[in-house]
Amino acid sequence: MSVSDLQDNTPASATDIPSLDRLLKSQDFQLLLNTFGRSQVLSALRSYLDTLRVQARAGELMRWAVSTPAISQAIHQQLTALTRPRLQTVFNLTGTVLHTNLGRALLPDAAVQAVVSALTAPVNLEFDLDTGGRGDRDDLIEGLLCELTGAEAATVVNNNAAAVLLMLNALGNRREVIVSRGELVEIGGAFRIPDIMQRAGARLVEVGTTNRTHAADYEHAINPRTAMLMKVHCSNYAITGFSKSVDLADMATIAQRHQLPVTVDLGSGTLLDLSQWGLPREATVRENIQQGADIVTFSGDKLLGGPQAGLLVGRADLIKKIKKNPLKRALRVGKLTLAALEPVLALYRAPEFLAERLTTLRLLTRAQTDMYAQALRLQPIVQNALGVGYRVQVQAMFSQIGSGAMPVDVLPSYGLQLCYAGSGRPGRHLLQLETRLRGLARPVIGRITDDALCLDMRCLGHDEETEFTAQWTELPQ
Ligand SMILES: *Cc1c(COP(=O)(O)O)cnc(C)c1O
Repeated sequence: MSVSDLQDNTPASATDIPSLDRLLKSQDFQLLLNTFGRSQVLSALRSYLDTLRVQARAGELMRWAVSTPAISQAIHQQLTALTRPRLQTVFNLTGTVLHTNLGRALLPDAAVQAVVSALTAPVNLEFDLDTGGRGDRDDLIEGLLCELTGAEAATVVNNNAAAVLLMLNALGNRREVIVSRGELVEIGGAFRIPDIMQRAGARLVEVGTTNRTHAADYEHAINPRTAMLMKVHCSNYAITGFSKSVDLADMATIAQRHQLPVTVDLGSGTLLDLSQWGLPREATVRENIQQGADIVTFSGDKLLGGPQAGLLVGRADLIKKIKKNPLKRALRVGKLTLAALEPVLALYRAPEFLAERLTTLRLLTRAQTDMYAQALRLQPIVQNALGVGYRVQVQAMFSQIGSGAMPVDVLPSYGLQLCYAGSGRPGRHLLQLETRLRGLARPVIGRITDDALCLDMRCLGHDEETEFTAQWTELPQ
């Protein structure tokens, strides 16, 4: 086979197709066999040769296509595409820091190191190193959670949805749970309080109206079947105008009179007052406990900045009951979650370093000047790659926290605004551009607003900039 064969556009017949055996013995295939293994190569090659035979019968096969290098290259491409991991890293330039579809919180180095260690060496997951006896995996983080929230006890499950399900089933099965109509939230991706309630075996008792709920509404709904009063954080919406809700402290007073617990699904759940870093103020988990919450549930991978997890903190007797529920076993976390969670929680012991060490907080508090300078550096590179069809400019924009945390608050930010430079409506062209950016080696995900594709700099790390700029020369058409 010579080089000229590779350019030979004359027709070939089925008899020109090399045999499977000859191909497998060739030099070209040795690399493939060593990389992908015999069974994968064989199966790809068999179906590829079938395709070539079909082409030959249709008179569509060219001589160059039956050369060994051409066939091996085709198989190489197929297998590379086939074996590429489906879970890929992307650039999150949407401006939403805790983007649920892009995996929410990015973990700090301390957590990454702990996960790597737990992946590659045995750990004392359920082994008490003091006594040599069996341990409880929750013990690894319970002390830290109590220290940081002021709660008596704590436990952890797979995510906050699981925490709510478990809590409701353990404390409210076959009984009634009173919730304000203004708090019957739906979190994106099919988490609705009424549905979870039903699956947990609890009967939802709605009180008040969408915009106004009074203390007396809770009071009147209480009866011998009542299991608890529950408060749910309005994560992804805000009720404003003529509205009223009952403070947790007041709910707790009512509940105590009837010897009932008050539980709070806090959603994001912050451990420290974020207003000290210029972010919107939210009641912390500790404040919820102080105001009388008997159980608080919250996510590990929202504002907390840790791995996906559902944390339950509160009264020792109730946590004990929750931990005894069979669902706890079904919803428990694995060692990787615990490995990542402990160092993230530990960072909260030194608030003075938090904005530097906790990735989520670092991104949320990133200096505007820093994002502006980065946008200026990247503008010519992106403009050059896109050519005259699009106009790329540095633009002030707004980021969001995301994951339902503080839905009405936005953070001033900087980024690149990509506008269609041709005539006519830009919509279709912007969608096409979005698709092209998703086709980059490491896909770039932006967001379309105001007839432009915006690339928010907030979540683009300095250490990622080289990788980001290098790939624009390969932008698909
Ligand atoms: C986000 C959220 C949940 C679900 O938490 P996950 O950790 O995503 O399972 C439940 N309730 C509220 C109020 C939330 O904001």
